[in-house]
Amino acid sequence: MNTPPRVFRIALACIVAAAAVPAWAAKPGVARNPFGTLPSGEKVELFTLTNASGMEVQVINYGGIVKSIRVPDRRGKFADIVLGYDSLDGYATNTPYLGALVGRYANRIGKAEFTLDGKTYKLAANNNGNSLHGGLKGFDKHVWQAEPFEKNGEAGVILMLVSPDGDEGYPGTLSVRTTLTLTKNNELTLDYTATTDKPTVVNLTHHDYFNLAGEGSGSVLGHALMINADRYSPIDATSIPLPTPASVAGTPFDFRKPTPIGARIGMEDTQLKHGNGYDHNFVINHKGNDLALAARVEDPNSGRVLEVRTTEPGVQFYSANFLDTVGTAGHAYKKREAFCLETQHFPDSPNKPAFPTTTLRPGQTFHSVTVYAFSTK
Ligand code: BGC
Repeated sequence: MNTPPRVFRIALACIVAAAAVPAWAAKPGVARNPFGTLPSGEKVELFTLTNASGMEVQVINYGGIVKSIRVPDRRGKFADIVLGYDSLDGYATNTPYLGALVGRYANRIGKAEFTLDGKTYKLAANNNGNSLHGGLKGFDKHVWQAEPFEKNGEAGVILMLVSPDGDEGYPGTLSVRTTLTLTKNNELTLDYTATTDKPTVVNLTHHDYFNLAGEGSGSVLGHALMINADRYSPIDATSIPLPTPASVAGTPFDFRKPTPIGARIGMEDTQLKHGNGYDHNFVINHKGNDLALAARVEDPNSGRVLEVRTTEPGVQFYSANFLDTVGTAGHAYKKREAFCLETQHFPDSPNKPAFPTTTLRPGQTFHSVTVYAFSTK
């Protein structure tokens, strides 16, 4: 019988081996590709970060958006566990802040105004008379300058934006730099810095909608959630926090032990009514300025686990109470089919002197770190 020449046999063996390369043998790095053009003519790029375990994070420089995060389940099966859109048009024309970097002031400022050093600043009242997520054209709707990098097996992208003095009513030219890094240990690190040339306020977050069973796979009410917070911020009927945080003990806001998100969400409770579900700031139990554990979420079916660590004093737990959009691969995303854990300073801090300050002055550097760590159980 004729056997193929040795060179062909080796080539064939290589092709078969390459096709079977397990995810853990993936090559770490960053790929940079065009993602589309906005009606303004601005070009947007897609950065695909990969680590040696095969975890993959896609970031676009429009809105600092995290488009996808692919992580394995307990059997090694990968899925995209954040909600997103396939195209730039999806992000540019829809409003739920899917995967977006939110600023200058993430969350709400009451009555859409604040006073700093005796001067009152008026903002866009885009949410029940309050200002939400930086106003009409917040940081989630800007094209950021982007620089990809690779170092020591880590892949990332640095996003930079200069927000001019008076942008959306806020004082001072704010220069923001956000570094997103995919580590060797299946963590996505978000490192933010900001400086200003006039006194201003700043509060930055990332608005990822997670579904650990995979985007588009239905309700998250069965996910077990732990929030490392003894206190939370009760809200008024327009979702502005009351001046004093309250104990979570004996309330549906006690997530100190892992509890299914849906266990108490339907309870008769004024706070759940105000938020239309969970849409509240939790006061993270911190030791000084440490990178503290904010929350841990586990999907019992897939075994995927997300741990959120942060230097921020608070985290907004939002149970996607208003979600209704069509995203990746035409999947319909409805209410309660994702959860957000938005690390942040407390909402309305510029009007609440007792809250940790969000004032930034010339010469100071705002610095904040949040880590999303993925594992399985
Ligand atoms: C807010 C929600 C809002 C959502 C999407 C969350 O951070 O707290 O009230 O509906 O963002 O805009």
